[in-house]
Amino acid sequence: MGKALLAGAAGAALGADAPQERLRAQVCVVGGGSGGIGAALAAARGGADVLLVEREAVLGGTMTLAWVHTWEPCSGADGIPRELYDAMKLDPSAVSVPDYAKGSPRRGGCALPFEPRALVLAANAALAATGRCRVLVGTTFCKARVEGNRIAAIEAWFHGKRLTIEADLFIDCTADGDLCADAGCAFHLGEDPKNRYNEPSAPETADEAALNACTLVYRITDTGVKQKPHLPPGVKPGLCPRPVHIVVMPNGDHLLNAVGMIDGNALLHLDYSRMMAEAYRRVAEHFHWLQTLDPKEGGHWTRFVRDTGYGTWAVTGIAPRLGVRETRRILGEAVLTEHDCQAGLRGQKHPDLIAISDHAVDIHGRKGRLYEVPNGPYGIPYRCLLPRGVANLMIASRAASFSHIAASSCRLSRTMMTLGQAAGTAAALCVKHGTPPRQVDIKELQSSLKSQGVAIS
Ligand SMILES: Cc1cc2nc3c(=O)[nH]c(=O)nc-3n(C[C@H](O)[C@H](O)[C@H](O)COP(=O)(O)OP(=O)(O)OC[C@H]3O[C@@H](n4cnc5c(N)ncnc54)[C@H](O)[C@@H]3O)c2cc1C
Repeated sequence: MGKALLAGAAGAALGADAPQERLRAQVCVVGGGSGGIGAALAAARGGADVLLVEREAVLGGTMTLAWVHTWEPCSGADGIPRELYDAMKLDPSAVSVPDYAKGSPRRGGCALPFEPRALVLAANAALAATGRCRVLVGTTFCKARVEGNRIAAIEAWFHGKRLTIEADLFIDCTADGDLCADAGCAFHLGEDPKNRYNEPSAPETADEAALNACTLVYRITDTGVKQKPHLPPGVKPGLCPRPVHIVVMPNGDHLLNAVGMIDGNALLHLDYSRMMAEAYRRVAEHFHWLQTLDPKEGGHWTRFVRDTGYGTWAVTGIAPRLGVRETRRILGEAVLTEHDCQAGLRGQKHPDLIAISDHAVDIHGRKGRLYEVPNGPYGIPYRCLLPRGVANLMIASRAASFSHIAASSCRLSRTMMTLGQAAGTAAALCVKHGTPPRQVDIKELQSSLKSQGVAIS
């Protein structure tokens, strides 16, 4: 553990009633999901003293808490995601498909479901092995202290204790861009109008409330005993939209993602409690539908109904957190747009690509649409990780600087992990050379990422 992390213990001088503690690191990563794990790991491996702040009790974010524990590796899913997968599969009961290369369903492969506990174990072990990363789970970021164009410190709560965390550099991996927004960075929500980026499929008039749908993921198990289909009182058939992605867990359970379960714009009205309550009702109705479905009805999910029959199955778990696909998108020095997704690497002119993806443009919800990117993998510029206006802040999460359309293609978890790896590597270079993020030597960053196994061309 770096000495800097332990400097200045009691914070009596801060003058508030709650117990206080002052911590210091060279790099502070806020949010320990896909982006945060990648960022903290890369920054610590690059030689920086790192503090990783996560509000929940375990790392993994959407993967472990919203139960999106399935990857579809596409181009660019190398580096840290592959390494964590290799660590997870050492436990044969943790992954359904040991061969990572078999992923990428869009190229005839299959999804790669894994047990969330395996991801937590692998991430904890990798971070601990660096000897330079202090992980603070159960710690909620609440305020950025901005001085001029820099964040001097953040405030966070840990079970009744107020923490003040000072750092040279901060990386926002909160998924909602909360640190950036609190530091005053500009952001967009929902659709972008055509005149913003002139994207081919953007609407003339944007709907800011057109957020991607949210889903409460659930898990079902074959009990081996005939089950009586059950609808809770007051829940009517047809309540939950039908489309569902089903993946088979290592122990044979099925993990169900009813894609359009809850309209994403409910998030804008602070309706999280109602959303969760409603999502519970919809899970019940959705499973009742599957249990009673005639496989002749159609839809790719009927394969599971036909092959398996759900007569003896029961819901055995519901994710603790709603799966949120989209909220803020912070404005960075560059914005990844549909032009990038369509141009592909050969058509893009950015000199600072630090990650690639080739996942489809995939918008879920009432304005949903899906199309494959036409020219293969495209790159994501480093400048998308640099929020405008704050000199010592980076972002590596689904809230990074993407258009609404581009975000629907690149938000996948291993791409976010790779963005984190790029941000963390850049942060370590900043610490090493004493330079701010905007002066990182791009060639040095790209060559470091390549040497870590990250594909960027
Ligand atoms: C239902 C659903 C299905 C999906 N399907 C797939 C799929 O099949 N394959 C795929 O690859 N991707 C899929 N995605 C997308 C992908 O899961 C997410 O886009 C990705 O995981 C986001 O990673 P992230 O690092 O940006 O955010 P997260 O993983 O959500 O991490 C953010 C972290 O920040 C923490 N945090 C937030 N606020 C604070 C705070 N104030 N203080 C401290 N910590 C904080 C959170 O607790 C969380 O751990 C799906 C998403 C959803 C919702």
